[in-house]
Amino acid sequence: MEVTNAGWNFDNSYAQLPESFYSKIEPNPVQDPKLIIFNGKLAEQLGLDKKALQGEEGIEVFAGNSVPEAALPLAQAYAGHQFGNFTMLGDGRAMMIGEHITPDGKRFDIQLKGSGRTPYSRGGDGRAALGPMLREYIISEAMHGLGIPTTRSLAVVTTGEPIYRETALPGAILTRVASSHIRVGTFQYVAGKGDDLDELKELAEYTIDRHYSYIKEEGPERYLTLLKEVMKRQAELIAKWQLVGFIHGVMNTDNMALSGETIDYGPCAFMDTFDPATVFSSIDTQGRYAYRNQPAIGAWNLARFAETLLPLIHEDQKEAIKLAEKELGYFADFYYAHWLNGMRKKLGLFNEEKEDEKLFEDLLKLMQENKADYTNTFLALTFDKEYEGTEDLLKSSEYEEWKKRWQERLERQEQSNEDSQQLMKDNNPAVIPRNHRVEEALKAATEQSDFGVMMELLDALSNPYSHENDQQEYCKLPETDQPFVTYCGT
Ligand code: AMP
Ligand code: MG
Repeated sequence: MEVTNAGWNFDNSYAQLPESFYSKIEPNPVQDPKLIIFNGKLAEQLGLDKKALQGEEGIEVFAGNSVPEAALPLAQAYAGHQFGNFTMLGDGRAMMIGEHITPDGKRFDIQLKGSGRTPYSRGGDGRAALGPMLREYIISEAMHGLGIPTTRSLAVVTTGEPIYRETALPGAILTRVASSHIRVGTFQYVAGKGDDLDELKELAEYTIDRHYSYIKEEGPERYLTLLKEVMKRQAELIAKWQLVGFIHGVMNTDNMALSGETIDYGPCAFMDTFDPATVFSSIDTQGRYAYRNQPAIGAWNLARFAETLLPLIHEDQKEAIKLAEKELGYFADFYYAHWLNGMRKKLGLFNEEKEDEKLFEDLLKLMQENKADYTNTFLALTFDKEYEGTEDLLKSSEYEEWKKRWQERLERQEQSNEDSQQLMKDNNPAVIPRNHRVEEALKAATEQSDFGVMMELLDALSNPYSHENDQQEYCKLPETDQPFVTYCGT
């Protein structure tokens, strides 16, 4: 086998951090790795050699069987509040092989998910099944297509080894690409270890250096600014989720990345019928992570982040709490401003009016009352025609009145109808990864080894705002009324 190193250009800044932040690990080779899907476009953007990666050399790396030059496998330590309960966690089924530096100098974590046991595996086998890894691949790439910050997926390989859940399933490994894997839970882990302020400061400085290098403040003000900037990114991210009807499903603090990227696609799903109480995850029996709760949970998680920073914010803890609380108080404003701005675009509005908020809330109320499909309602408004799941809404007299108000509102701005429609097209996707389409693709892949359905879906998801005719079929709704249920992908 000719080894070219496939364009990998590894550096390991995380391994320079205190040793307690991670565990160096040995790869866990697998029997018979096969490449199932490979993201050529992403490989190109990363400056990697597509040909080498799809050959034996690349597959051995994706499988964790060989380690590229200068890579340094490690599992990261972290803690987290899972459904509100604090737990020690860490990468129990993932291995960071290193940070790849692209030709234009960008740094990305390359992580293998499903790569075997680590010191943080607790009772788990460290492995993952093919279905959930393909699911993460599809949804993460869909989010990227929608213009929402997210980790990316470079490849999925099967391991040739079964894993045992309720039944035996084919084992698989996802290669995940992320701006970093620093989580709220990483800070919770370091802050919770004791009172080594130097280590906490080191993590905060590392995070600033990697994601917020524009923060120039010095002294305690520096960490308050870090809190504010992290909050801003989360507010924008969660507003983007809400605007497309994305439900993360497991917004534990270990699944909130400080980079502001969406991370950890487990029981996530997109909402069809608009209902703020929508929950898909089988384990979320209380609806903690329901659609309508996502902004408030974001704020809750950020409060946990703020707690870890208190000793850096002020030496007097009472003062630190006061300062952090004041900052946290702005989250709702940040979030709402992004959401309003996004709704304006979805409805073709270029300027702001005081009554906009009421206009949007009234539409959502009517959508809920008429059990309208969220995505298709915005398409119906964009193209002024009926879409599946909008029939009852469009028939209702209240909607007629609402539409009149909206049209009068459009008339009051100087932009043309064409400009408004273009803005709406750019902000209302024709294609989202609807649950029944994702399930259909996964079923074909895992039961018949037919990957064509998934490839076609991925292709459509890569360009959701183009509004081509052949995208119409992605507006179709599932034939069943059965509520969709998701499971954590372990
Ligand atoms: P997640 O629900 O994917 O965010 O995972 C929560 C925690 O459980 C993380 O620390 C994972 O590393 C760990 N975990 C999930 N699945 C496994 C597994 N099969 N083996 C070991 N640890 C796991
Ligand atoms: Mg996780």
